[in-house]
Amino acid sequence: MPSTLWSAQTPFPVSRREFILGGAALAAAAFLPARAASRSSLFRAYPFALGVASGEPAPDGFVIWTRLAPEPHAPGGGMSPAPVEVVWEIAADEGMARVIQRGTVTASSDWAHSVHVEVEGLQPDRWYWYRFTAGGEVSATGRTRTLPAAGAMPERLRLAFASCQKYEVGYFTAYEHLVREDIDLVLFLGDYIYENADSPDAVRAHGLPQAQTLDGYRVRYAVYKADPVLQAAHAVAPWVVTWDDHEVSNDYAGEFAENPGPGDPAHFLLRRAAAYRAYYEHMPLRRGARPVGPGAQLYRRFDFGRLARFHVLDTRQYRTDQPAGPRLQPAGPKLQDPAGTIMGSRQFAWLMDGLDHSPAVWNVLAQQVLMAPVDRMPGPAAVVDVDKWAGYEFERRRVLRHFHESGTRNPVVLTGDKHNNWANELLLAENPDGLPAAVEFLGTSITSGGDGADRPDYVTTLLAENPFVKYHNNERGYVRCEITPKFWRSDFRTVPYVTRRGAPVQTRASFVVEAGDSRLQRG
Ligand code: FE
Ligand code: CA
Repeated sequence: MPSTLWSAQTPFPVSRREFILGGAALAAAAFLPARAASRSSLFRAYPFALGVASGEPAPDGFVIWTRLAPEPHAPGGGMSPAPVEVVWEIAADEGMARVIQRGTVTASSDWAHSVHVEVEGLQPDRWYWYRFTAGGEVSATGRTRTLPAAGAMPERLRLAFASCQKYEVGYFTAYEHLVREDIDLVLFLGDYIYENADSPDAVRAHGLPQAQTLDGYRVRYAVYKADPVLQAAHAVAPWVVTWDDHEVSNDYAGEFAENPGPGDPAHFLLRRAAAYRAYYEHMPLRRGARPVGPGAQLYRRFDFGRLARFHVLDTRQYRTDQPAGPRLQPAGPKLQDPAGTIMGSRQFAWLMDGLDHSPAVWNVLAQQVLMAPVDRMPGPAAVVDVDKWAGYEFERRRVLRHFHESGTRNPVVLTGDKHNNWANELLLAENPDGLPAAVEFLGTSITSGGDGADRPDYVTTLLAENPFVKYHNNERGYVRCEITPKFWRSDFRTVPYVTRRGAPVQTRASFVVEAGDSRLQRG
């Protein structure tokens, strides 16, 4: 255990001037380290080329992360296999003058020279700064925070959630704006990488073949994490992450590849094991999430005092295969098979238990795929996408019924995956009060899908066909949320293009939910 050297309070909020410099290069430059005057012989180049990150906040600590990779594109990140001692420091000020904890950890080639430190013994509801040193080289300084104490009722929480950052189709401009937001937390809801070879519409090709092996996934993460704008977003606040399909391969389900091949599912599980391992190596996760073979425990909970409980779900690893047939299928009894599950029975029971014992005003499901049963076919016939919750209709309804029957307070579903913005009311036919069982905010992609465009005719048809869909927009960006004991506000923050740098941001729409009233109101 590191000793606590200093524990006085630091004022909040800290100066945000360092982050408000304007422009990607400048925003990123705020996090560039003061490099050592002479390069040590340990590394061929600057070893902290993938930046730093933090996550898994608790009232007394968090995880801080880095990976030594002086040559991000090279096998092994350009590291020799020897283990390397890395010093980490936690400070109460952004200049790292008042260091309150310090320790040493060994970065091993077994885990791609990644470093995950679970810091403990800190004060609740407080900002801290951290950095790493190895071989005389110093990392960027990251900023992170602890959660409020259990039992506290914070006045507010501000967060942003994001998903789907396909590297080659655009610039991560949205993060340049995200780093200037006044946020406590970032939720990332899946598709941190895409496993494919470059898309035909690449504007910045990564030049890599499809990722299938551990080395292949590792270099994919390294290329993404070498992006200075993504590094800046990680350095500004703790991230709570979960995965969707592209961290492994498109539309996989449990042990089933999208198109099973020879030797599957055993062969696919080897690929999944490699993908999960590389994911852990590059994310600020706790040891409990470290993969064992093809499995990893990623679903977990966070309490922001008694204001909000976050149930972070994994709807990929344990799901049964999508119902056979095409991706778009008629809604109906076939999709209500009780044997179909998107969470698996253990995660389902864990979620129900966590809802029933929640102290929180807001109960948040931070998860991957669309929960509203959106009908994609104009006219009386209903056709739904079976890769989403609609393909697991029995379980979808069980969750909504549980919200209703167990009196879950203010359930809010946060979703990624679809590469557009949506605000949905989740209805339950048997709900006698006529109020929605929950609301769903689905956030668009950071880049996936490329430049967005307004599609007024499509939106008119979509909303007419699905009255529970209150908003749809097809631009890139993220969602900013302000959460208080009285209301939840979601702002859809969009950028008009991603295939060129420098896009401005705007709030395209805002929605408010009042505590105790699950209807969406235009904000
Ligand atoms: Fe995606
Ligand atoms: Ca997806």
